[in-house]
Amino acid sequence: MNRPEYIQERDGALWLTEVESGHLKLNWRLKNVLHVERSPFQEIVIVDTETFGRALVLDGVVQTTEGDEFIYNEMISHVPLALHPNPKQVLVIGGGDGGAVRECLKYPSVERVDLVEIDEQVTSACRTYLPELAGQLDDPRVRTRFEDGVQYIKGVENQYDVIIVDSSDPIGPATVLFEEPFYRSVKAALRPGGIMVCQSESPLFYLPVLQNTRRVLNELFPVTRTYWAPVPTYPGALWTFTLGCLFDPFEDSGWTRRIREESTRHVTAELAEGSFALPAFVRRALGVVE
Ligand code: SAM
Repeated sequence: MNRPEYIQERDGALWLTEVESGHLKLNWRLKNVLHVERSPFQEIVIVDTETFGRALVLDGVVQTTEGDEFIYNEMISHVPLALHPNPKQVLVIGGGDGGAVRECLKYPSVERVDLVEIDEQVTSACRTYLPELAGQLDDPRVRTRFEDGVQYIKGVENQYDVIIVDSSDPIGPATVLFEEPFYRSVKAALRPGGIMVCQSESPLFYLPVLQNTRRVLNELFPVTRTYWAPVPTYPGALWTFTLGCLFDPFEDSGWTRRIREESTRHVTAELAEGSFALPAFVRRALGVVE
């Protein structure tokens, strides 16, 4: 197994170096490199880290770890699913590790979850090495398609109650998932009263991406909101999610009672409510007073 160049032996230990910027690198001490392959879209690596357990790494960027994936996957799923009064048809674009799908299946009203992941090899590697995440993909309510989310959603109209865009960073195959034409197609694919959410990156390291996402969704949707969560293994640990809603779900002040907190390790009703209290610098950067 050829080790990628960003995994090196140093002082008798194996280290993965994730480059965040020219000035910041994250070093992960590894127990082992479990899997390395190159797909038509990206390099797929599964490592076993000393601190956060097994992790999926795409093109040198850590996507998800056993140690803290529950925070990200619960926040990107439970918040929009609880905001929607009766979600039945759900679409997850990206999310090939299966974590967001696992959380969606916790809602009894959900009749179907369509997973549209561009890279089949990501999902098969996660099935093998990260069963905690990918283990629910055989649920009869799940339908998996391996294709570009942008192509899939073109021409889909009025089909989904909730659409979750669980993409990697805006580099490589995911770049198009942060662009206006894609969000416009997402809006068209929603049923009346539908809600979409996307991971909108770090306000510390990717502020222009968050600002652009918010600007585009503001123009497309009557109601948009941004919320946040601490994800320790993501750069700066402060991560955001942005909603586009075809109605105002916040008019129902009791929406958090629908959070399935008996099945979660991070999100609770109070925490979901509080996650919309944005740090002052983020509010200012987005020009919002919410
Ligand atoms: N939570 C992670 C994050 O925030 O970085 C992302 C998790 S998930 C692994 C991201 C998935 O999006 C990857 O498996 C990648 O292959 C998929 N993806 C990237 N571009 C895509 C596209 N255009 N259509 C569908 N899936 C895409």
